[in-house]
Amino acid sequence: MDTPDIAGDIAHELYTPEQIADRLAEIAAEIDSDYADTEPLLVGVLNGAVMVMADLARALKSHCQMDWMAVSSYGSGTQSSGVVRFLKDLTTDISGRDVLVVEDIIDTGLTLSYLVSNLKSRGPNSLEIMTMFRKPEALQNSVEVKYVGFDIPNEFVVGYGLDYDGRYRNYRGLSTLDPKVYS
Ligand code: 5GP
Ligand code: MG
Ligand code: MG
Repeated sequence: MDTPDIAGDIAHELYTPEQIADRLAEIAAEIDSDYADTEPLLVGVLNGAVMVMADLARALKSHCQMDWMAVSSYGSGTQSSGVVRFLKDLTTDISGRDVLVVEDIIDTGLTLSYLVSNLKSRGPNSLEIMTMFRKPEALQNSVEVKYVGFDIPNEFVVGYGLDYDGRYRNYRGLSTLDPKVYS
């Protein structure tokens, strides 16, 4: 392997693991309270939401269930292709369920719009969205996001589930990459 040391590829850390955990605990408390009368089905969007799903679910004090779907809007680069591909469906029937979609990041919101309209057509009792990170452009799209971890600048970031070319998902903070990584 040419880059065994992940930290050496990091340019600027926007959020530390501690800041992410603290914010997630606040959101989990809100979700516990908002879903006090029901058992939500957390729907994680693979692959990026793996870390936030794992940490959010364990920060909840109430029962929840988890399921996964996979869509793809990015190739291996850093620009949105605008093309959403549906790669894996849920195994749970969500009709009548209280669904909480768990996202890593919302950039253009293309992926999310597609997901939300698809899931709503299946007749859930309710459908809300939680995202750990959100970029400015997301505010221009019509999808309403109930829980947002952090609003971040319009930069390409990695870590906490987010990848560049398949790497850096296991970096615990949220960071930008050193330009040498792209060259
Ligand atoms: P959108 O459809 O909202 O433009 O993009 C959503 C998806 O694009 C995210 O789930 C994520 O996979 C990817 N994405 C958007 N912004 C970033 C970023 O800054 N870094 C990484 N690694 N992925 C991103
Ligand atoms: Mg995602
Ligand atoms: Mg990606």
